[in-house]
Amino acid sequence: MSTFIPYGRQSIDDADIAAVEAVLRSDWLTQGPAIAAFEEELARRASARHAVAVCNATAALHIACVAAGLGPGDRLWTVPNTFVASANCGRYCGADVDFVDIDPLTWCMDAAALEVKLEAARRAGTLPKVVIPVAFAGGSCDMKRVKRLSDEYGFTVIEDASHAVGASYAGRPVGCGDYAHMTVFSFHPVKIVTTGEGGAVLTNDPALCDRLRRLRSHGITRDRAQMDEPDVGAWSYEMQELGFNYRITDIQAVLGLSQLKRLDGFLARRRMLVQRYDTLLKNLPLQLPQLDALDESAWHLYVVRVKDNSAHADRRAVFDALRAADIGVNVHYIPVHLQPYYRRLGFKPGDFPQAEQYYREALSLPLYAALTDAQQDRVVAQLKRVLG
Ligand SMILES: *Cc1c(COP(=O)(O)O)cnc(C)c1O
Repeated sequence: MSTFIPYGRQSIDDADIAAVEAVLRSDWLTQGPAIAAFEEELARRASARHAVAVCNATAALHIACVAAGLGPGDRLWTVPNTFVASANCGRYCGADVDFVDIDPLTWCMDAAALEVKLEAARRAGTLPKVVIPVAFAGGSCDMKRVKRLSDEYGFTVIEDASHAVGASYAGRPVGCGDYAHMTVFSFHPVKIVTTGEGGAVLTNDPALCDRLRRLRSHGITRDRAQMDEPDVGAWSYEMQELGFNYRITDIQAVLGLSQLKRLDGFLARRRMLVQRYDTLLKNLPLQLPQLDALDESAWHLYVVRVKDNSAHADRRAVFDALRAADIGVNVHYIPVHLQPYYRRLGFKPGDFPQAEQYYREALSLPLYAALTDAQQDRVVAQLKRVLG
């Protein structure tokens, strides 16, 4: 019997379920001790000083932008090859969004293209306040160069590492803050570890951390040191700015804590499956993933490019044939600038040719910790059949 193999899915075990059940029976469903414990563990794993957990990574990107001071008249740059949330966070702040094209091999932000665009923006007086490189599929772009450019041009780096929980770059964990002022993780069920819905911002800057904590909870503080009138009474709190309710629950945080205990196992399994794909697919007319030399990816996605100009079936035909065979292939990503909302802001086909050519060819194959060798063999066999 043939069953559907999705491109990604969560892995929940009895320990995860027991942890959630214990919170459900406890006094705190939200704003309780599981959140702080989850944040501590996230920060420890990523060698960051602070982690602020929120209800999803989209909210994390939003408050990271607010904390970076992004507002109307400012500019945010990201890549077209990402989920729409990496760009939308700029629009939430009333800022203008623009894009930097991707590297044709790593499919992440092309740091050389970033440098060229920054030089032009300096001459035109249109430098960005925030740049969001995306750790696409779990692999970082040339973050050393991004950091050097950040020092030179003064923009804040928010790394969207939604795909990269557990990844390393230059021998240090993604999130450690060596190359980004803030790093965002997602805990959506298709990502590396899950809380159902959830996200976090990591930073080493205590002032940014305080601001993020306030923004996630209505802009309210109970910290006497942050109050205009600290002596009103023990009940007192102050709303110091317009914040949001972006809190995560203890139910979710404890699931995240339990999942983090399994992170090393998840990463090892993903890496093993990637090695198998690399070997099993190497003689097919496909471009396989390639990492920056300093990268140890978390392998959220395994994307292959079906060469547009080959005599073999094109990406659309390969996609349809695999779906018909119950293989849940997917496409990551439709270039953000080609979404109708962004076209109406003035973007058009041809603006970012590398991301557009990549999109015509990209196909995400199933990859998740619970994928078995036999299931993977079935994916490979179907792919070989379809490519003839
Ligand atoms: C999943 C994802 C997000 C959004 O994450 P949510 O937790 O679903 O809000 C943002 N950026 C990228 C690159 C993603 O893959």
